[in-house]
Amino acid sequence: MASVSESTVEELRKLNAEMAEASKLLIRKDLELTRANERLQALDKTKSEFISVASHQLRTPLSAIKWVINMLLEGDLGALQPEQESILRKGYESNERMIRLINDMLVVSRIEAGKFAHEPIPLYLEDILDNVLLGIEGLRRKKNIMVKWSMPKEKFGKVMVDPSRMHSVFENLLTNAIKYTPSGGVVSITLTRPKEREALVMVSDSGMGIPKDEQKNIFTRFYRSKNAIRSETDGSGLGLYIVKQIIAKHYGKIWFESAEDKGTTFFVSLDIIP
Ligand code: ADP
Repeated sequence: MASVSESTVEELRKLNAEMAEASKLLIRKDLELTRANERLQALDKTKSEFISVASHQLRTPLSAIKWVINMLLEGDLGALQPEQESILRKGYESNERMIRLINDMLVVSRIEAGKFAHEPIPLYLEDILDNVLLGIEGLRRKKNIMVKWSMPKEKFGKVMVDPSRMHSVFENLLTNAIKYTPSGGVVSITLTRPKEREALVMVSDSGMGIPKDEQKNIFTRFYRSKNAIRSETDGSGLGLYIVKQIIAKHYGKIWFESAEDKGTTFFVSLDIIP
């Protein structure tokens, strides 16, 4: 049997020692990374708690302002001149925007803290959509947009959804469709059943569309495309982020197709209960 030379043994010993040293270093680095990660998670938790508390605190005075402006608008303190009324209405609208923003921030902080209530029950999507359409009637009229609603002749199966969350999803998609479509445009909402167990909702508009190079960012928190910022000042960029999280909670899918200056279609796919 060939004997291993002393120099080879020495070489192997050295290599072994180097490997032991390297693995010690790796373990130390791993520990450092774990600690850094824990620190970041704690910071993130503090940030979410801060946003949550601040949002709650802001809601109270905003509700009081809403109540006061409402009283004035209703004429409880005397009749208003047209100019006074118009200015008060603007104040009311700004206050409403702030309430919406605060509510969205609260939802985002709950999502991030993993405290997002989700209570699904079996429901017909048609009923939720009917309800949402009723709610956006005022906005639709104000913008002079035609809304077409088409659904199958017969109601098909139910889906397991949290009613208020799913209401927010379609309210957001329809509000966006109206908001980002010039006056006189068309928005359509279609419910189909492409597969035995799939319900597909399509929300289409003939609006400004989403520029190609910005499409990848559209579900990111606070992201607003340049053309949207130019034409519509009211917006936080939180709506679609929330929508995506809600759909994910329902094990559904959401995607879109869009062409600038032509229009956008959002698709939402959900499972029909067997
Ligand atoms: P917001 O509407 O408050 O800005 P969202 O999160 O709902 O925020 O939407 C994010 C961005 O996606 C919008 O600012 C806009 O750039 C784009 N977007 C969403 N829906 C549409 C649509 N139907 N048509 C054109 N752009 C849209």
